[in-house]
Amino acid sequence: MSEHSDELYQQVILEHNRKPRNYGKLALSTHEAEGYNPLCGDHLFVRANVNAEGVIVDVAFEGDGCAISKASASLMTAAVKGKKVEEAKILFEEFRRLVLKEIDPDKDPHHLGKLTVFSGIWKYPSRVKCAILSWHTLKGALDKEKTVSTE
Ligand code: ZN
Repeated sequence: MSEHSDELYQQVILEHNRKPRNYGKLALSTHEAEGYNPLCGDHLFVRANVNAEGVIVDVAFEGDGCAISKASASLMTAAVKGKKVEEAKILFEEFRRLVLKEIDPDKDPHHLGKLTVFSGIWKYPSRVKCAILSWHTLKGALDKEKTVSTE
C-alpha cells in the first residue's frame, strides 16, 4: 500500500467509525445473523430486508467492535444496499479475496469501488478478521445461518 492509500484508509476508517452508515435496527427485516470475532471481541448483528425479487432493499448493522470492524460494516451496508443477493455474494467473495491479497485491485477486474481502501489490510493479519466480520455475518444472514464466527 502506498503512503497515499495508507492515508486514505485511515481517513475512511475514522470517518465511518465516527458516523457509521446504516447503523441500528430495521423496521422490517427478512434476514438476520449475529457475528463474532473472538480474537478482537467484535460482535455485530446484521439485518437485511430482501424483497420478492431478491433485492436487498434495506440493510443495517449494530453492535460493538473496534474501529475497523465498524467502518467495514458501515461500508459493507452501503455497498450492498439496493443490490441483488447474488451480487452481494459476489462482492463478499471479491472482498474476501481482496483482504487476503488474492486479487490486485489495480489489475484484476472487480466491483469493489470504495471497498478497495481495505486493500492493504493483509499486512495486518489480526485485522483481516475485523474487516471481514460484517461480510461473513451478512452472508450468514442471507444463507439463514443464525450465528457466525470468524474462528
Ligand atoms: Zn476488531
